[in-house]
Amino acid sequence: MNRIKIKDKEFTISITEEQIQREVKRVANGINRDLAGKNPLFLSVLNGSFMFTADLMRNITIPCEVTFVKLASYQGVTTTGKVKEMMGLSEDISGRTVVIVEDIVDTGLTMERLLETLGTRNPKEIHIATLLVKPEKLRIDLDIKYVAMRIPNDFIVGYGLDYDGFGRNYSNIYTVINENE
Ligand code: 5GP
Repeated sequence: MNRIKIKDKEFTISITEEQIQREVKRVANGINRDLAGKNPLFLSVLNGSFMFTADLMRNITIPCEVTFVKLASYQGVTTTGKVKEMMGLSEDISGRTVVIVEDIVDTGLTMERLLETLGTRNPKEIHIATLLVKPEKLRIDLDIKYVAMRIPNDFIVGYGLDYDGFGRNYSNIYTVINENE
């Protein structure tokens, strides 16, 4: 399928399943090499990263654990208005090597907030593994060690990422067309 329609928007294929799998394997190999002997705890940020997490974990060959958290948006008293709170982490991460597994880093604000929250729980080290980065949008100076792919500043769906809840099921990644027409 080269084109899909979700609600009012049309999307065209921009990253194929084969490309995704190749880059995910590359990231996994890097983690296997760098974090051997550290028993990392992979912290998958739901919902968007569920497919990336599954494929990444299938390629991780070192002893490790995986757990899942959700970010809940609520109106906070901040300059931006919206604050994301981490929910569902029951593991003790003190002294642990933590790898955050994200779908996409856009402005970086979500990741910054997550790092702050996790930092208060005394992990030994925190690494970031993200499927996608939009470098043009990045506003925060983040040390993102593991990036599968860098993409332009367009809205995408598929491989876990949604448009209004739909589109997460596709194995390819699709980019919106005619967004401004
Ligand atoms: P940030 O806080 O880095 O600006 O935003 C990160 C979050 O925005 C991601 O976890 C994701 O939920 C959402 N996001 C950013 N860009 C896209 C995109 O192109 N498509 C989809 N489906 N979600 C996106």
